[in-house]
Amino acid sequence: MRCPFCRNSDSRVVDSRLTEDGSAIRRRRLCSSCERRFTTLETTSLNVVKRSGVAEPFDRAKVISGVGKACQGRPVTDDDLALLAQEVEESVRASGAAEINANDVGLAILGPLQKLDQVAYLRFASVYQGFDSLEDFESAIAKLRSEGQPPLDAAQQRPLTAE
Ligand SMILES: [Zn+2]
Repeated sequence: MRCPFCRNSDSRVVDSRLTEDGSAIRRRRLCSSCERRFTTLETTSLNVVKRSGVAEPFDRAKVISGVGKACQGRPVTDDDLALLAQEVEESVRASGAAEINANDVGLAILGPLQKLDQVAYLRFASVYQGFDSLEDFESAIAKLRSEGQPPLDAAQQRPLTAE
């Protein structure tokens, strides 16, 4: 790691600590040449492999923007989304794998989103799992009910459960 001030490649670690969410290690370094201090962040690399086969680094912002669309008009705050993205990152990193399929990121989103907002969950699941009929919604709702979640309110159920 080169010093960002003088480009010298030799530095000494003066402090090392885990970031608040535990996903990275932050190191304070002292350049042995110019003696200025700088910080480096160490994370394990985690790539997301898309259906096209293209791999790109895991990015919480992409989780937030994907879930955010499903949450439009719902009582979900930016903080809720940030926490959800953190939970998703922790769960996909917990596997210890350096690469994960985009599909598995979607799966990791479903659990926390279901706890956060059931309507947003149904929207996200309908796109992500390719719901194409009322029956798909009915079975997803039945599953939510059987898992002991509080029911959706009547206005939200009616169009989804119509025969
Ligand atoms: Zn330096």
